[in-house]
Amino acid sequence: MASVSPDYDNLCPLAGRAISPDQHCAYGALANLPIAIYRCLVDAHRTIIVLTDGIKAITGYSAAEILKNAAPNLTSLIYPKDQDRVRQEIAAALDQRRPFSLEYRYVNAEGEVRWIADHGQGVWNEAGDLECLDGFLMDITEHQQAEKQLRLLSSASEQSPVSVVITDHKGCIQYVNPKFEAVTGYSAAEVKGKNPNILKTGHTSPEQYRQLWRTITSGEIWKGEFLNKKKNGEFFWETASISPVKDRNGQITHYVAVKEDITVHKETAEMLVYQAHYDMLTDLPNRALAIDHLKLAIGQAEREGEFVAVLLIDLDSFKTVNESIGHDVGDLMLCHVAERLKRYIQPGDTLARLGGDEFLIILQGLKGLESVLPFCHQILDAVEHPYLIQNAMECFTSATMGVAIYPIDSTSASILLRNAGIALNNAKSAGRKNVKCFESGMNLAAQRRHQVASQLRRALEFDEFSLVFQPLVDLNRNCVAGAEALLRWHNPTLGSVSPQEFIPIAEETGLILSIGDWVIHTACEQLHQWKDALSDQFALAINLSPSQFRTARLANVIANCLHRYQIPPHQLELEITESLLLDDQPATKLLMQQLKRMGLKIAIDDFGTGYSALSYLRRFSLDVLKIDRSFITDLPDHGDLSALVRAIIFMAHELNLSVIAEGIETEAQLRILQNQGCDYGQGFWFSRALPPEAFLAFAQQTMTYQTMPE
Ligand code: C2E
Ligand code: CA
Ligand code: CA
Repeated sequence: MASVSPDYDNLCPLAGRAISPDQHCAYGALANLPIAIYRCLVDAHRTIIVLTDGIKAITGYSAAEILKNAAPNLTSLIYPKDQDRVRQEIAAALDQRRPFSLEYRYVNAEGEVRWIADHGQGVWNEAGDLECLDGFLMDITEHQQAEKQLRLLSSASEQSPVSVVITDHKGCIQYVNPKFEAVTGYSAAEVKGKNPNILKTGHTSPEQYRQLWRTITSGEIWKGEFLNKKKNGEFFWETASISPVKDRNGQITHYVAVKEDITVHKETAEMLVYQAHYDMLTDLPNRALAIDHLKLAIGQAEREGEFVAVLLIDLDSFKTVNESIGHDVGDLMLCHVAERLKRYIQPGDTLARLGGDEFLIILQGLKGLESVLPFCHQILDAVEHPYLIQNAMECFTSATMGVAIYPIDSTSASILLRNAGIALNNAKSAGRKNVKCFESGMNLAAQRRHQVASQLRRALEFDEFSLVFQPLVDLNRNCVAGAEALLRWHNPTLGSVSPQEFIPIAEETGLILSIGDWVIHTACEQLHQWKDALSDQFALAINLSPSQFRTARLANVIANCLHRYQIPPHQLELEITESLLLDDQPATKLLMQQLKRMGLKIAIDDFGTGYSALSYLRRFSLDVLKIDRSFITDLPDHGDLSALVRAIIFMAHELNLSVIAEGIETEAQLRILQNQGCDYGQGFWFSRALPPEAFLAFAQQTMTYQTMPE
């Protein structure tokens, strides 16, 4: 019994002899194992002499039944196709006096084909005769199936374009596909048997792993993202979907992880998030992030009883910088400004670029406000220092600022920002390069603007506009030579609104284009109605806004109206402003030439209020120059003004322009202008602007004895 294990001897003292089934069943400890220990004779049937009750779980027959020959013996249970192989392999092992390990199929009591592992060895007596076979049997059907499943899963994953990792139920890697090898740099052989945590970076929280295991061990699929590490140390992002694979009994045999490298997606997403919060040019926070910061600052100020200052900074005439030296240099300049502003920002404060040439500074944690205005002036001074662009070009700019304070001007982030904007606009109209704090008065002005803009939108539709006509008087002949058409707006809600108020709003909102068309149309219609009543030299002047000159359609609109109402072009005079000429756009010049060719007269309005560069007058062959009212108002009392007006009239005549003086209110003013050779006059001294019928009466009265000048 040399080769029989001592344990076995202890458990089975009757080994070597046939024992009664009842006696056999006494070995209870063995009976519960899913393993059957056997001793059998080496005869054709392997006649069983000892068998533990584990056989019941394996074959469905109890040890007692088999021992009593009431059930098939172990040999006849072997699946017929495997019987020869089993016999041969056992014989060969015995021949060589070595143990054997077999896997073969058998048929259980239910007629099911299952897999069994049979490990055994021969037992020789002292004389060297083979006495019996000792061994144990184990059902390995599940294991076999798991193996088969693994083969199936892995062969399906071989060509997959995504990484596949299959682990056993303990999480040890059994298989990885070629894509996994390509992504991670690990070969299948390197990772087999290892835990997938070889890819760990430490960036995934232990909680995420716990949750993963909770999910998959409970039989559910887990989906998530990992930041993992390749063999070369490089980090990469992957999404993983990990599914448990179960056998027929519902036991988890494997986990299959399908993973996709999403580093590029992730980086793109991060880039998008960055772009959503930062300005690409200057790397400063953008409007969205600035508003977030402001909200946080307000929250803190509320808790601490502090102030927050919102400073809106706008670079002066930056558009001109862009247009004159190019957008690339303009961009560089913005970066330089951003860098310079950064130097003044304390930790905790915010500097943002809201877009274009607009920057925002948020000062938080303020206990008092005494430092805010000095700080603003410091910023304005800083911006004004020259900028050396690309180490070659010196550029200049200046800034204007609007300030709103939490909680004085509002407690809401967006309203504070809006109020700072209102203050900024006010600072701009007060002459730039300065700081204005928000005052509620400005807010009222902003509300009024809003109201006017919204009513203005419907004014054409509801026919709320009309034209009035102010006489233009020939100062040599003392007669009405023409009229200026002036727009009036009466709105049921707002009453009469002055053009000084609504024209700038119409310009800002773009409504001026359709309103301008209406003026041209109505003026021509009026001229047509007066055709027989007034001289054919009578000239009607209409005012045009610069934006009307920025569209090529102006010439068409005018041509159509002239044609429709059969107006000779010299009867229409267009009043334009100096700023339009200063713009110096080629398109403006072309349009002007086109209008001139059509035979229209062009007058420069409000002369003297802008830059008054006389060279412009020469460049744009104009017909009429209108001296602004501000020169006329103080005329008799100001010797200097009188000399200035004389000089303007002289130069205008030199340039072949006729001169109209606006705003004549007194006889004294009239006399001076007449003495200085001014051609035409306009003003309350003669008449205010009149409705059509009243104007016609006025004009006819003065024309009955005078003919109109050429
Ligand atoms: P403007 O072109 O300089 O028009 C002359 C303004 O001076 C008119 O004001 C007129 O009523 C006023 N005025 C005339 N004589 C005197 C005077 O002796 N003393 C004083 N104190 N004022 C005098 P109004 O009608 O309020 O128009 C203001 C401005 O609105 C106009 O200035 C013009 O720039 C603009 N505007 C008026 N109608 C139109 C229009 O149809 N289209 C465009 N684009 N602008 C218009
Ligand atoms: Ca005018
Ligand atoms: Ca004017």
